[in-house]
Amino acid sequence: MRSAGKRGSGEAGKKGGTGALGAPLSHPGPDPSNPLHIRPIEFVGSFPDALVSVDPALPEIAFIGRSNVGKSSLLNALVGRPGLARVSGSPGKTTLLNFYRLPEFYLVDLPGYGFARAGKGARAGYRKLVTGYLRTRSSLAGIVWLLDIRHQPSADDLEMQTLLAESGRPVLAVFTKADKLTRSGLPARANELAEALGLQPDQIQLTSSQSKLGISELAASIVAAAAGEDS
Ligand code: GDP
Repeated sequence: MRSAGKRGSGEAGKKGGTGALGAPLSHPGPDPSNPLHIRPIEFVGSFPDALVSVDPALPEIAFIGRSNVGKSSLLNALVGRPGLARVSGSPGKTTLLNFYRLPEFYLVDLPGYGFARAGKGARAGYRKLVTGYLRTRSSLAGIVWLLDIRHQPSADDLEMQTLLAESGRPVLAVFTKADKLTRSGLPARANELAEALGLQPDQIQLTSSQSKLGISELAASIVAAAAGEDS
């Protein structure tokens, strides 16, 4: 998307513009087709305890994935607030659950896994927090599990798949960074990754936080899951 500011200060701006009346403006702000862009959202807090009680108790949709998978970028794109979750240059440092409140539910950002430099103690702490959350959280309505479409599942991804399966919770696998592939290469790669994970097409959503592919579809699935509906 081109920004209006750049256009005004470039060649066209100096010449006073040479355009004709014809093309509609692209939408610069909230996307009206995205149900999360029209809802207010606020950061509630960061908590180190899987059993934390939040007030009011509302359904929770949790986000989980390997460090650097694009989780913060996806959360920001989903809710249309570029600065809400921190896009990090040094991944894997947080071991906290971040809660964001929407009117009818919470989005819960679980810490990223698979951080290469994490020591044994940090890994054990991570596992305790996340398994505790997945197993015991009665308000957990669904999990969005992120995987980078370019990579085969790592050992940590496969371990997470086992934990998610054991939890018995509804899971949607979201393949991130789809813009990194060519349009023609995307479907074959998506099938390949789905097959490697034993996932059916209706368990997958392709996304790109950069091109916004699949973002409003994912937002709709989240709203439906939080309301206890199958989307
Ligand atoms: P997190 O560690 O999972 O929260 O990942 P971040 O959101 O911090 O993103 C990690 C890196 O991937 C950053 O450099 C982002 O700019 C980049 N990134 C995230 N999402 C996308 C995407 O959809 N497309 C592209 N091309 N890059 C992305």
